[in-house]
Amino acid sequence: MKRVREIFIIRAANRLGFAGFEGRMPVVNAGELLYIVCKNLTDVFRAEKALQEAGIPVRTVPSPPKEVGPCSTVLEITVGDSKRSSGVLEQSGLEIEKTIPARLPRTELLERLSGKNNAGSFGKVLSGVLEGLPPSLPDLRILLKASGTDREALWKAADYVRQISIGDVVDIRAALEFSNHCRRNCSYCGLRQGNSNLSRYRMTENEILEQAVRVRAMGIQTIILQSGEDTWFTTTRVVNIIKAIKQETGMYITLSLGEREPEEYGIFRQAGADNYLLKVETTNPHIYSELHPGSTVTERIKHVRMIKQAGYITGSGNIIGLPGQDVDSIARDIIWFWQEGIHMIGVGPFVPAVNTPLETNTPGAVDLTLNTIAVTRLVCRNSYIPSTTALATLSREAQLKGLACGANTIMLIMTPPGVREKYKIYANKMMVDIEWALTMVKALQRQTPPYIQAGGLAEPEQRTAGG
Ligand code: SF4
Repeated sequence: MKRVREIFIIRAANRLGFAGFEGRMPVVNAGELLYIVCKNLTDVFRAEKALQEAGIPVRTVPSPPKEVGPCSTVLEITVGDSKRSSGVLEQSGLEIEKTIPARLPRTELLERLSGKNNAGSFGKVLSGVLEGLPPSLPDLRILLKASGTDREALWKAADYVRQISIGDVVDIRAALEFSNHCRRNCSYCGLRQGNSNLSRYRMTENEILEQAVRVRAMGIQTIILQSGEDTWFTTTRVVNIIKAIKQETGMYITLSLGEREPEEYGIFRQAGADNYLLKVETTNPHIYSELHPGSTVTERIKHVRMIKQAGYITGSGNIIGLPGQDVDSIARDIIWFWQEGIHMIGVGPFVPAVNTPLETNTPGAVDLTLNTIAVTRLVCRNSYIPSTTALATLSREAQLKGLACGANTIMLIMTPPGVREKYKIYANKMMVDIEWALTMVKALQRQTPPYIQAGGLAEPEQRTAGG
């Protein structure tokens, strides 16, 4: 049965164009996998190379933040390769901090949730995922379609996995949307080049830096520099901005600039950028090409991989409710996040934007979006998952529910008034500010991050899985 599952997943991955899938890791139960923890990210990549050269299947995946210290990424190997891997790493002069099992720790609640009492196909599938079975299309399809009491069980299980893997602290980050110029024409996006009704802006380098300093003064540790694909911000300009923010604030820097030239990813990383967000939006090749004129999902995936190889903590994500998208397509997205070891996964509903070809389309369904967050948490248990602004735009309550069914992060919009309202990727974008973020944390009896409690200018703490 296991072999059938392996072949199924490998074929599904290859159909999507994820070349090399079968060469990297065998698809096995999490109980047969181990995480190797290294001292730092540089050692992780050196160790990955050494193991690959020795012919040992390995992949880099997000660390379980509660069990691992500062390093965001661990190596995943099979239990059977553990002795040989230690030997190879020792010979290469690389120190292993520790090895830890990949499966969830056994607790009473897990036993209950993954339960002997779970009857029916939904219960069996949920048990299997909690037990660490690798994700399969038929299983994820069942979970994503959950409703009624099944949905309650799914959300509860996801919330439990979030608590065990990540903890109760809700990470708070700040997005600074510094330019709404874009050279692309994505059908769903209000920033698309063809939207001549949009008033365009670019913040100056000084304005960006000043705003970053304000963000840091709130205690926030990670700033997301976001824009359309705006080539006016050349390599040199972006490097100058990264260096200035790093020097002035010491914050972690996440770039969300769309696709750039391959060599730029390395240059920005060298300059001090830590994370890079590039949403795949959908892994369905037909829907992708339909919505992104002149572009393919294969190319998009290539960029995500280049970003990961450049040493970033890598973010991606999808949109729920795109035209032509079905539950299978969403399930394939989740399998892709898992297979690529994506660190941050943004799952947001489609929200129509005025002056775009999709302006009259129906928004994505809130419940399906929440189910997707929950299933993503079960499958990619150590990843950072935001409860998105797009969810808040459909309803504030939906954003709150997102945090209660697997999400652990909130992105504040810290774009200054005057330009903020021009960053119209979709209509009626919700203003997620610190007050609303703290209200949600309190309502859910979760924990505010210590850097926010301390306020002021505390030094950034050592980084965790999401940087
Ligand atoms: S989704 Fe991104 S790349 Fe596409 S038009 Fe909008 S800003 Fe540009």
